[in-house]
Amino acid sequence: MIDYHLHVVAHGDRPMTVENILAYCEVAKERGILEMGITEHDRYLDEIDLAAFQEAREKTDVGLRLGIEIDFVSNKEERMEHDLTALPYDYVIGSVHRVDNEEIDHPNHREIYDRYETYDLYKAYYANVRAAALSGRFDVLGHPDLIKIFRRFPQRDITEMLEETADAVAESDIVVDVNAAGLRKPVAEIYPSRKLLEMFHRRGVPIILSSDAHAPCEVGAGYEQSIPFVRDVGYREVVTFENRKRGTLPL
Ligand SMILES: [Zn+2]
Ligand SMILES: [Zn+2]
Repeated sequence: MIDYHLHVVAHGDRPMTVENILAYCEVAKERGILEMGITEHDRYLDEIDLAAFQEAREKTDVGLRLGIEIDFVSNKEERMEHDLTALPYDYVIGSVHRVDNEEIDHPNHREIYDRYETYDLYKAYYANVRAAALSGRFDVLGHPDLIKIFRRFPQRDITEMLEETADAVAESDIVVDVNAAGLRKPVAEIYPSRKLLEMFHRRGVPIILSSDAHAPCEVGAGYEQSIPFVRDVGYREVVTFENRKRGTLPL
């Protein structure tokens, strides 16, 4: 098994020391995770300690990978390009956290939910998801339906915008992040929903699995639900990355 989306520095919670990285590896090992990818948020790029990462990689038998989670903003190409070429990553995750450059997953600032009718907010969100996928900059699309985080669901049917998004994802040849962090949020659901994951599966879109851990105890969290979930949808393997080249592991 793999856990390919997690944060050691997280939101500045701890420095990226060998010891802190190994604390994550320890939990990974206990939970049967063979490969673990560290993907800090791009705004903590300067906190990534490549030497500590390399030293930790020598000291653990968990396969350690280095990635980054880029916050996709369509008019910030230069900043994104800088961040995603700054270090020798094994893979790059592109995640949409914003509509109109405003965070949609912030626990305290939810003004955007009052400004937009929910259906229109979803429309704007998925337009950004399609743009992120089609930008061709990323190996992985992070938590593709994060917009459901606070359980605000539109009254109108969104099947069409999901189909359109699944088409764009398939066309862009990007891997989808099946991210269990949603289980720990108000929505209490894995990202993506079953409906969206089935659309991806029908189109042959490959996946990674992740916990989006922000602390060692969260490594592999939710896998008792996400592994049966993806298997039930029909997936039999996950993608791995090394030096931005894909491999696979059986599920
Ligand atoms: Zn994210
Ligand atoms: Zn994350």
